[in-house]
Amino acid sequence: MNLTIKKCLECGGTSFTQASDHKCFRSIEKSFTKGTVENYIVCLTCGEILSIYILHPGKLKYGNH
Ligand SMILES: [Zn+2]
Repeated sequence: MNLTIKKCLECGGTSFTQASDHKCFRSIEKSFTKGTVENYIVCLTCGEILSIYILHPGKLKYGNH
């Protein structure tokens, strides 16, 4: 995924970085958990998290749908 954010909505800063974290998602509908990687786009000026997304969201699909 490309960085498409041009400007921080909080401070107007234009410097960003991407960070990632490994998360365990627990479904509230079905009793299973999936490990996945969560990515953040963070403003380097004020620390605002401008975007959070996970890699391979299809992994969270489960069951009949
Ligand atoms: Zn900012």
